[in-house]
Amino acid sequence: MSALHIGVDVGGTKVLAGEVSDHGQMLRTARRRTPGRQAEPRALDDAVTEAVLEVADGRTVAAVGLSVAGLVDLTRGRVRFSTHLPWQEDDTAARLSARWGVPVLLDNDVSCAAVAELAHGRGLAHPDFLLVTIGTGIGGAIVHRGELWRGANGMAGEFGHVRVVPDGRACECGLRGCLEEYASGNALMRLAGDAYEDGAAITAAATGGDPAAIQALASVGDWFGVGLAGLVGSFDPPVVVVGGGVSDAGELLLGPTRAALERTLVGAGHRDLPQVLVASCGSAAGMVGAVRIARTG
Ligand SMILES: [Zn+2]
Repeated sequence: MSALHIGVDVGGTKVLAGEVSDHGQMLRTARRRTPGRQAEPRALDDAVTEAVLEVADGRTVAAVGLSVAGLVDLTRGRVRFSTHLPWQEDDTAARLSARWGVPVLLDNDVSCAAVAELAHGRGLAHPDFLLVTIGTGIGGAIVHRGELWRGANGMAGEFGHVRVVPDGRACECGLRGCLEEYASGNALMRLAGDAYEDGAAITAAATGGDPAAIQALASVGDWFGVGLAGLVGSFDPPVVVVGGGVSDAGELLLGPTRAALERTLVGAGHRDLPQVLVASCGSAAGMVGAVRIARTG
């Protein structure tokens, strides 16, 4: 029996803990709702703890990896800033390690998703890619020659907060007109209205032919393509891998995304467009990557 490593995706909407095989297959998962940014940090600690205990189910845990939707300090295991979580300038890894009595490692959620794609997904065939996740918000990671490029502060890839509309909608990050105000799960919910419980319900309705749901996904997909055009113009990647919960909509999202990318990319008629591919590890990629960092330290 190999040691039990648990990964937890701490996202803006849900906490998803899981056990994953050596080949990246999910063996067991548990989920909890994420307390909002205004909650006490302790409330999020409790939600994560409950999910970890449910997955462990009485077994001894060797280490826990956390995939965190926010800016993190890897070496100190600290969450510096998160637009959606109550952990702010927070020594998360040390506190949870003391509470659970096991090593806790953490990384940014999109970096974890990139680690998962490198180990089990698109990265096996494509050593150079941009990973852009579209979930509650938008996140990104830059992979070159099979390695993450993290930037001077370890904060590279915050593509969701590139301004696309001057003096546009106020964003939770404190800025205005950020891409994720127009292209994200939150934007999708706002566009689709109150008729749907969550993003998954919108995707299901759109798949069934619901015009309002299809239109909402098309609008989000269009804005997402406009955002990608800026990134492709900047980085010229051969491949863009799209992950996050909204990517479960597949072509209902990515069709409009590719059209907008082609319409708004500089020199589009004079260059090869990148392949835009759905992430192999799906919306569980953050959790799968978190297991990997728990294993490898
Ligand atoms: Zn923002």
